[in-house]
Parts: sequence; C-alpha cells; structure tokens
Amino acid sequence: MRLSRYFLPVLKEDPKEAQIVSHRLMLRAGMIKQQTAGIYSWLPLGFKVLRRIEQIVHEEQARAGHIPMLMPTLQPADLWRESGRYDDYGEEMLRIKDRNKRDLLYGPTNEEMITDIFRSHVGSYKDLPLTLYHIQWKFRDEIRPRFGVMRGREFLMKDGYNFDLTKEDALHAYNRHLVSYLRSYERMGLQAIPMRADGGPIGGDYTHEFLVLAETGESEVFYDSQITDLTFGDRDIDYDSVEECQAVLEEFTSRYARTDETHDEAVYAQVPEERRRTARGIEVGQIFYFGTKYSEPMGAMVRNSDGAQVPVHMGSHGIGVSRLLGAIIEANHDDKGIIWPEGVTPFHVGIVNLKQGDNSTDAACDAIYAELQARGLDPLYDDRDERAGAKFASMDLIGLPWRITVGPRGLTSNKVELTSRRTGQTEEVSPQEAIARIA
Ligand code: ATP
Ligand code: MG
Ligand code: MG
Ligand code: MG
Repeated sequence: MRLSRYFLPVLKEDPKEAQIVSHRLMLRAGMIKQQTAGIYSWLPLGFKVLRRIEQIVHEEQARAGHIPMLMPTLQPADLWRESGRYDDYGEEMLRIKDRNKRDLLYGPTNEEMITDIFRSHVGSYKDLPLTLYHIQWKFRDEIRPRFGVMRGREFLMKDGYNFDLTKEDALHAYNRHLVSYLRSYERMGLQAIPMRADGGPIGGDYTHEFLVLAETGESEVFYDSQITDLTFGDRDIDYDSVEECQAVLEEFTSRYARTDETHDEAVYAQVPEERRRTARGIEVGQIFYFGTKYSEPMGAMVRNSDGAQVPVHMGSHGIGVSRLLGAIIEANHDDKGIIWPEGVTPFHVGIVNLKQGDNSTDAACDAIYAELQARGLDPLYDDRDERAGAKFASMDLIGLPWRITVGPRGLTSNKVELTSRRTGQTEEVSPQEAIARIA
C-alpha cells in the first residue's frame, strides 16, 4: 500500500476522551472512530489488525477441529424465553421490536441459538463430538463503556460451543479449547494466563478466564509468579488425545492464579511468600463447561448407544477479538506509539522515502516495494511529500515491526537503513539484505 493513496487519518494531538494508552494510540493512529458511546467504526488500519486477529483465531480453531459458521446478530426473544434468560439478562440486553411488534434482541452471546440449531439437526450420539463456532458482533449495553474497544457496547467475539455425549467428553472439549486459546494468544504476542473464574449460578470448577497482565486491566489478579514462566511455544499437540490436552490443562492451571472474584486468601497463603503477586489483568477470553444447562430446558437430546434420549453436555468458549487490539497495545507500546507483534501487525514493514520526487530514490523505493510484495509481504510505502521527521513519527506511531529508510546519500553506496521498531536499532545494509532479513 502506498500511503499517499491510503486512508490513515493520524491525529497529532492526544485525544482528551482517552484515559488509557491503547485507546489513545488507536485514535491517534487512525484505527478507530467512535460513533457513539461504545460503538466504533474500524478505519482501514484498525480493520486490518482486526482481520489478522480473526485469522489467527480461525487457524487455531481449525487446528483443534472446530467448525466455523455464522449466526446472525439479531435473535428472536422466544429462544431466550425457552432458556429463561430473556428475563434474567437484565439491562445489558438490547431489546428491539420489529414492524410486526415481535420481540428481537441484538445477541450478547449465542448459547440459545446454537442449541436451537443443534436440536433441529442432530439426533444421534454418532454425530458427536461436535464443536461449532463463529466470529460475530455482539451487543451488550454496558453501564460504563470505556477504554475504547476494550469495553465497547458493540464488540467482536469468537464464541464456540461444544456438544458431547458425556461429561468426560465435554471436559475434553474444554481442555482442547484451553490448548487452542493458549496457542492463539501466544501467536498474537500475548501472554494470557488461565485463571480460575467464578462459575456464577451454575457453580463448579469448570471455567477459566484468560488474563493479560496490564496496569489498566479491570480485574484484580493474584498469582504464583511461576505461572508467568510457562509458555506453550511450538508444541505439537494431538487435539484428539485426552491425555495430551489434560496434561496441558494441568500444567497451566496447577499454580495459583485467580481474579478477585474467586480469590481465596487461605489457599493463596500456601504459595511461598516470595512468589505471591498481585496485579491487574485484562480478560481476553473465557471457557466454560455447563453441562445440560441449555440442552435440558431447550430439548437438545441425542440417542445414546442404548437408544435412550439424553440431553447433550455443552460448554461455551469466548475470545474477545476486538478487545484484543486494546490488550495487545497495552502490552506492546512505548512513548512513541504502538509496537506490533509480528503475528498481528497491519503491515509487515514500512518504507520511508527521504527524498520523494528524486528519481533514483523513488526508483529504489519502488523496487524494494515490488520485491517485498513479490515475496508475499505487505509493505506500507510512505511516498508522501513530507519531512523525514513527520514520516518517522507516523511510522513509530503505527508501530510496524520494521522500517526501511531510503535516501539519496545511502544509495550512492547501495545502502538503506533497516530499523527494528522494538529495539530501535538501525543497521546500514543493501536493499537486498534488508528484504532478506524481513522476509
Ligand atoms: P467482562 O468481565 O470484561 O465484562 P465478560 O466476562 O462479561 O467480560 P464473556 O461473556 O466471558 O465476557 O465474553 C467473552 C469475551 O468477550 C470476554 O472474555 C472479553 O474478552 C470479551 N468481552 C466481553 N465483554 C466485552 C465488551 N463489552 N467489549 C469488548 N469485549 C468484551
Ligand atoms: Mg461483562
Ligand atoms: Mg468477566
Ligand atoms: Mg467472562
């Protein structure tokens, strides 16, 4: 993409409405525009990152054997009357009437709808296990939408639902989700710690939230510092193996890690004092096993091998796709701007032309741009007629991992500058070498 033809409305001044750094940087980098409280347009740069995060989620869900689909944003109230949640959900639910006075709602989540789909089409244990998911906009009329996309009212969520014959099978699905989530967050350059969460009215131990440690997080968290040494890395996991998935769950959840909702001083006191940590965290996902909570009232039954009708065991599993942009920036920035992890960066590299209009500099930039694209990379070429300082400031703000700076002086000895956004280190190398280093 050539910047002169792109739409990147960067702001010079810090917007007053932004209380936290990720919100400020997303507005300044021209990624989002608020339309009304908690509702945002995704401008091209923000939209690109959103799509990259979605792509990682899709790839990791596919690896775990989960099946993508798409349910609508608007749902009939009647489905929610069946589960009893239409009245229970309260003011967070946006309720709408259509021209025929039928009650609709903008979905805050999809347990009821997916259960309806399941009961319409699945009748035998032979069709299990099954895990379906989608990435779709949700609406929750939050009392206090704030921090930009971190707590929006309209937000993008990946929500997946498993259907299994037995509790054991459903717990395997739970573990499989835990593994796939660990991989997903790491690919986004994040450490998200599974923490024991509150099962709510259903109770039980079978829910974990994934938290990214950040000062601006809304949850207070308590953990054993050993948990932050764990990384999932490049392990090759067989998602069908009950033992392998269970072992990952045990490894990542055996140390103390809880939010304020489940924190227990007595248990925490057993962690050696020098390893006890209190911090703040951002919830970027949650997994849940809830058994037959929806299948029973909504009649989602299957025939088991004895021919008996039994309700399916279910769980639901969410990733806060749009919230992740905020969380990633909270964890990856400096005073000049964003520092995108390679896995989610909107462009792989920026090219800065120091003397736009100079024939040989323009030609060198064009050649680098073309070669990067030929290698399957997505460069952003700053071909505007601007001062070098302004170009550098924009590149630092939008945070691409690499910058190639091309000027007439360096070109006389076939050199360009290759700068890492994260370390700030610059090297003088030939254009070919710069390209090879990034590719
Ligand atoms: P929170 O505690 O932050 O209100 P939640 O527990 O209500 O979140 P879940 O129902 O667990 O949310 O939804 C799954 C994921 O969706 C959350 O882990 C979070 O990452 C994301 N999410 C929830 N509410 C919002 C929101 N208002 N804006 C952006 N993302 C959200
Ligand atoms: Mg909530
Ligand atoms: Mg929560
Ligand atoms: Mg939650």
